[in-house]
Amino acid sequence: MNTTPTPTTPEAPTATAPAPPDRSLCRGPQPLTARLEPWMEELLADDGTCRRLLAEHGSPVNVIDTAPLVRNIGELRAAAAAHGVDFEVYVARKANKAIAVVDAARDAGAGIDVASDDELAQVLERGVDPAKIILTSAVKPPATLRRALDAGVVVSLDNLDELDDLLAETGGEPADVALRLAAQAPGIRPTRFGLPGDEWLEALGAAGGRVRVSGVHFHLHGYAAGDRVTVLGEALAFVDRLREAGHDVRFVDIGGGIPMSYLDDRAEWDAFWAAMRARRDDLRGGAASGQLTWNDEPLGLDGSGVVYPFWQESTRRGWLESVLAGRIGGAGVAEALRDRGLQLRCEPGRSVLDGCGLTLSSVAFRKNRADGVPLVGLHMNRTQMRSTSLDVLMDPILVRSPGAEAGPEVDAYLVGAYCIEDELILRRRLRFPAGVRRDDVVAFPNTAGYLMHIVESASHQIPLAANVVRRGGGFERDLIDGRQFGVQKEQGH
Ligand SMILES: *Cc1c(COP(=O)(O)O)cnc(C)c1O
Repeated sequence: MNTTPTPTTPEAPTATAPAPPDRSLCRGPQPLTARLEPWMEELLADDGTCRRLLAEHGSPVNVIDTAPLVRNIGELRAAAAAHGVDFEVYVARKANKAIAVVDAARDAGAGIDVASDDELAQVLERGVDPAKIILTSAVKPPATLRRALDAGVVVSLDNLDELDDLLAETGGEPADVALRLAAQAPGIRPTRFGLPGDEWLEALGAAGGRVRVSGVHFHLHGYAAGDRVTVLGEALAFVDRLREAGHDVRFVDIGGGIPMSYLDDRAEWDAFWAAMRARRDDLRGGAASGQLTWNDEPLGLDGSGVVYPFWQESTRRGWLESVLAGRIGGAGVAEALRDRGLQLRCEPGRSVLDGCGLTLSSVAFRKNRADGVPLVGLHMNRTQMRSTSLDVLMDPILVRSPGAEAGPEVDAYLVGAYCIEDELILRRRLRFPAGVRRDDVVAFPNTAGYLMHIVESASHQIPLAANVVRRGGGFERDLIDGRQFGVQKEQGH
């Protein structure tokens, strides 16, 4: 296929870039090819290093590189700058627990959105400017409110009981808060978070001068730019009323949900769903072959749940530009923000961690289920590579020694360590044209945003996965390991 003539004079010992990983060694029957960062390609091309990381830190091992975080934050800043809008990114801490993420966000001059007491304590300890922290925990223990107040971190208030708790901690001293706005605009899904503007204004009247509202905050379900424009309209009207009531409101925070794409190829994404629908039709008609998912699970096509849109048209910069170009009332969003002298903030998690991580796992066994369905067991469990979405839909990468002998082709499902019949790492059937060897490494791409951490558990007393940070060509253990619940024990093979 490659008709390019091979160069013939390799006299100087050029740094021989290792061949990129062979993506054909593992694909779904309907492939979903993940986009890889150059650092990922480099690591996956080096099977020895992958195996060494697993031997040193156990399986699975999460590998994190924070360089793309800085680039992603820059993309968002560029969108705001193009519209002349004062802007800051507050990275959603909960999307990845590595301390390296905090340090990288801090060094990029970005802020952090924290969702628990430990997250708050940690980012303060890492020297993040308290003015660059917002506390948005869904439930806030009084001790956490105390910690935020002492440090001068703005609290995003959710409800009136929380306001009471805050006032009990301040003892009359005025406290800086943001108010979480529960949008009521038509077409916006009702939210459990925050309160409508009217309720806030009434409560503020009763609280007198004991709270100073410095910001209005919301976080919406889904990824639609149009929904952000709609609710920004509501938020700005709320800001105007707060200012009339004497509050010095300085920012509006649109929360997270900024889209990203895991896949480059829209055609693959469309073809996958077309095949899933065709398979469902075939099953209804009774004539089906070519199973795509475990027990023919519909991955939400029956309305039983959702999968993340792993391919999306508009991401980070383009998405934020379309929010800023949106119109509320007679004015453009950017203009409305500028006219009010408001800073726009956002709290992206997933989309700024795009490209920052992958998860490596070693092969435990190959076998067939009692009815003959081939299985590949991995040294990991299903909480170590998933989100609240029904499944993660990118093909893994099989990393194999260049000299290793191929085995017989097999179509198999990846199963994991929990003693549960449906303990699948991925629900999709995968094709291994050159088989699976016990010394192969299975790599899951782009796991830094939620996938490696958000639902991980230490059930069965299996330790949590180690987190290693790639820095200057080497790898070091992230500081979060060893200081968290369910601590990963030192382990080796
Ligand atoms: C989870 C969350 C975020 C981050 O959302 P992403 O979808 O990862 O961008 C931001 N803000 C709040 C309040 C959240 O709960």
